[in-house]
Amino acid sequence: MVPSLFLLLLVAGAAAQGHDDAVARRTMEEFAGFPASDDGEGDRRAYALRVDSEGLQRQIDELASFSDSPAPSVTRVLYSDKDVQARRYIKGIMKELGLAVREDAVGNIFGRWVGHEAELGAVATGSHVDAIPFSGKYDGVVGVLGALEAISVLKRSGFQPKRSLEVIMFTSEEPTRFGISCLGSRLMAGSEELAQSLKRTVDNQNLSFVDAADSAGYKIHPEDLHDVFLNQDTYFAFVELHIEQGPILEKEGIPIGIVTAIAAPASIKVEFEGNGGHAGAVLMPARNDAGLAAAELALAVEKHVLDSGSIDTVGTVGILQLHPGAINSIPSKSHLEIDVRDIDEKRRNDVIEKVHQSAVEISKIRRVELSEFKIINQDPPALSDKAVINAMEFAAKQLGLQYQLMISRAYHDSLFMARISPMGMIFIPCYKGYSHKPEEYASPEDMANGVKVLALTMAKLSLE
Ligand SMILES: [Zn+2]
Repeated sequence: MVPSLFLLLLVAGAAAQGHDDAVARRTMEEFAGFPASDDGEGDRRAYALRVDSEGLQRQIDELASFSDSPAPSVTRVLYSDKDVQARRYIKGIMKELGLAVREDAVGNIFGRWVGHEAELGAVATGSHVDAIPFSGKYDGVVGVLGALEAISVLKRSGFQPKRSLEVIMFTSEEPTRFGISCLGSRLMAGSEELAQSLKRTVDNQNLSFVDAADSAGYKIHPEDLHDVFLNQDTYFAFVELHIEQGPILEKEGIPIGIVTAIAAPASIKVEFEGNGGHAGAVLMPARNDAGLAAAELALAVEKHVLDSGSIDTVGTVGILQLHPGAINSIPSKSHLEIDVRDIDEKRRNDVIEKVHQSAVEISKIRRVELSEFKIINQDPPALSDKAVINAMEFAAKQLGLQYQLMISRAYHDSLFMARISPMGMIFIPCYKGYSHKPEEYASPEDMANGVKVLALTMAKLSLE
């Protein structure tokens, strides 16, 4: 399927515009050292793609030193001094590679290798380098420094891109400072709601987003936020390289994961209010316990998720707070925060609707008030693009690397890039699936494999 598609593209292209495709074809052969026609078996000569694993590891270690917590942990929060140093570091590498560097109003950083048909939509890759407090040094970073190494690999091999290739470092994938995840990519994808709310957003020190950006050297005028929006035709494709953040690839001993869909979360805030009272004096029939209502709702979340019948539906009550929170006081208020995810939007939304019905019923039966049921966000899931999946599979096969099609249960900047570009993701194994903690680790071999698959995928897409 994949090889024949590739041949088909070459044949169709050659027929349509003989000269250009002959050039493209020759280039593909020259740079990778293997014939552009593919017999379906991985060609050993594709190993001509040489990754500088030591150099990549050194860069990862250097970047990890820009941290507000001691090694091996990494803490790098949006627009902090360390974040600014990391940004400078990334831009430095981009310039060394000869990429044209641009930054938008909120600090998304773009490094472009201009192709010989620069007017065509570019092939982009990238990820983030911000790190939640006391986390590790690979989450996101592999997708930025690894992407720059992929560009380096292609440059060393003599490859000439037809479509431009671009590496993006996204601003604030993590919600640490302003409670907004994927801030940079969400805005790039044209979220008017976010553009409006950023004018009023403050951190927990009451410092505004605009002032925080200013302190990092980004002077934002409210109208500039719209300049961050990108057109639908900016990118021909977007591919993100990332550690799996789960245990599957390591457990199965498979070096590459090809992501077919990204599950999207919805988050909900719920509050119940009752009368409270003394734990000894108020007898059971007279109570309307807001805490028990919350407990019952937490179990209802689990029930509705399991009733969906799909292993891909997950629900979590990660926050459950009781007021006043004393052992001898009946809870008069309870607060829950619920996270529901699925790759099927309708199935996820059905669960949310059932959770809402349960909240209403529980409040009636327990005679408490349902004072809040607020859906904070309800992002649609994203499917990877068929042509991008084909390109990733083609690359893995050429490299003789076993791969597995899989779903991303965490979400990434790719979820938002999918709104403006055909999207795909490449996963590599990480130690025990650990992420967001100092023990996070990916081996140099696994990173090199990911970089090679990314390089070849981008090369192929660039020539289409
Ligand atoms: Zn990440």
